[in-house]
Amino acid sequence: MKNLTNINIIKELLEKYGFKFSKSLGQNFLINPSVCPKIAELGKAEEGYGILEIGTGFGTLTAELAKRADKVTAVEIDSRLLPVLEETLSDFNNINVINDDIMKVNIKELIDREFSGMKKAVCANLPYYITSPVIMYLLESEIDVDAITVMVQKEAAQRLCAEVGTREAGAITAAVRYYGEAEMLFQVSRGSFMPAPNVDSAVIQIRPADTIKQLVEDKDIFFKVIKSGFSQRRKTMANSLSSLLGVSKENLYNIFDEMGITRTVRIEQLSIEQLAEFSNILKSLM
Ligand code: SAM
Repeated sequence: MKNLTNINIIKELLEKYGFKFSKSLGQNFLINPSVCPKIAELGKAEEGYGILEIGTGFGTLTAELAKRADKVTAVEIDSRLLPVLEETLSDFNNINVINDDIMKVNIKELIDREFSGMKKAVCANLPYYITSPVIMYLLESEIDVDAITVMVQKEAAQRLCAEVGTREAGAITAAVRYYGEAEMLFQVSRGSFMPAPNVDSAVIQIRPADTIKQLVEDKDIFFKVIKSGFSQRRKTMANSLSSLLGVSKENLYNIFDEMGITRTVRIEQLSIEQLAEFSNILKSLM
C-alpha cells in the first residue's frame, strides 16, 4: 500500500491525476503520519464497527479506518478524487466510496443500509467551510452511533467543547450538548496538512446521550431560546428574548424569579440544565 503521508507520493499522485486542491471544498489533506492512526483508534475504528467517513481526500484516513474496522463507507463530493482513490485504496475490499454531498445524503438511511448488524461510528477530517452544518446535520439525523470523531478548526473545537454557562460557549455548544457530550481529544498543528491552512486544528469527539434531551420538554422552544438568546448574547435575556420571541418582560422576570436567578441574567451565564428549565417554564406560558 502506498504511504499516503509521504510528500513525494502525494506529489506523484497530484501530477499523475492532474489534481489541484480546491480551496472552496476545504481540501487540506493530512500529511502528518501520526494523526490518522490516532483518529482511527480513538474514533472506534475496531472490530465489529462500521465507520462513516466524510471527505476522503486521497484516502489517508480512510485507509487507517479500513485497517481496523469491519467496513468503511465514505462520502466524498469531489468526483475528481474517484480515480485517485481507485489506486490508493486498491488493497482494501471493505471500503465503499459514495460520490455525493454529505448534506444531501439521508445519513440515517445510509448508515442503516451500509452497517446492518454492526456497531457504528463517524470519523472525519471535516472541510472547514461546513463544520457546524455537518455536525448539526449528523446530530439531527438521530443516527445510532457510539461516537462522532471529527477534526475541525481549533477555535471551533474550543467552542464546541466549551462548558455551557461560560463565555466560551455559543449556540452551537448548547445545540451539541442537547444531543450529547463533546470532548477535546488532541490538537493538530497547521503544518500537518497539505496545503497548510492558516489555522491550527483539533480533533473532538461527540458521544450521543439522552441526558439533556430528557430534561427538555419542547425541543423547538429550547432551540428557539438558544438561537435567539445567543444571537444577542451581550444583552440580558429579558431584553433579547422579549423582542425576539415576543414574550413580555414581565413573564420573563417571573420565570427568572421562579428559577431563583437574577432578572438581568445573560444567556451565556446559564448552564445547560438551566436553559432546559427556562425553556420548559417558557413553554408552560405559551
Ligand atoms: N480525509 C482527508 C484527509 O484527512 O486528508 C481529506 C480531508 S479534507 C479537510 C475534506 C474533504 O472533504 C475533501 O476531500 C473534500 O473534497 C471533501 N468535501 C468537501 N465538502 C464535502 C461535502 N459537502 N460532502 C462530502 N465531502 C466533502
